Amino acid sequence: MMIMPQKVSEASGPNEAMVLVVAHCILNRSTRWWQKGQPIERNKGPVDKVLQFLTENKIGVIQLPCPEFAFLGNPRSPATKDDYESLPGFKEYCKRLAVDSAKQLQALVEMGRNPRITVLAIVGLERSPSCGIESSPRKVRGTVVYVKEKGLFFDALEKEIENLGLEVQMLGLDMHQPEELCRKLTELLKSNIL
Ligand code: SF4
Repeated sequence: MMIMPQKVSEASGPNEAMVLVVAHCILNRSTRWWQKGQPIERNKGPVDKVLQFLTENKIGVIQLPCPEFAFLGNPRSPATKDDYESLPGFKEYCKRLAVDSAKQLQALVEMGRNPRITVLAIVGLERSPSCGIESSPRKVRGTVVYVKEKGLFFDALEKEIENLGLEVQMLGLDMHQPEELCRKLTELLKSNIL
């Protein structure tokens, strides 16, 4: 059954504004790894269902940087987390982006006194070696397998957020099943309101 994004009444209190923090390519798919032979449509525009969810629930959005595109551009070779770990400078680059992104979130939460700003969640992208949440590609005996761990950038981001004492849930988007993310966000929204 297809689960459509739902509108939750009163997504935030009278003096409260809510935002969602998302991996770059959720709003701008043009930076996604370019797969030769695939239709260009997969690299165009935002993920509509996530935008629809945000608009219907009056939730703002913060876009994180795309580490792979900024470091390598497109086209880039298909790569696992192991490949990116051994790419000179990439881990350090992810760390720098994570430090800046975490500080940006801290400022948002601390400076937003009225209206108060709440971060609903941070959304990564499943199966990405950089932005995965529950699924990242690893090379095991020459074969690519997906393991339950965060991608390099989200690993670093989680650490930086913890260092600043912030507590924000991280969720992963499966590009093939955006409804599932919207369902989880709807549940999270309800639990924030109750
Ligand atoms: S998953 Fe992350 S690294 Fe990959 S294209 Fe999206 S934002 Fe860039």
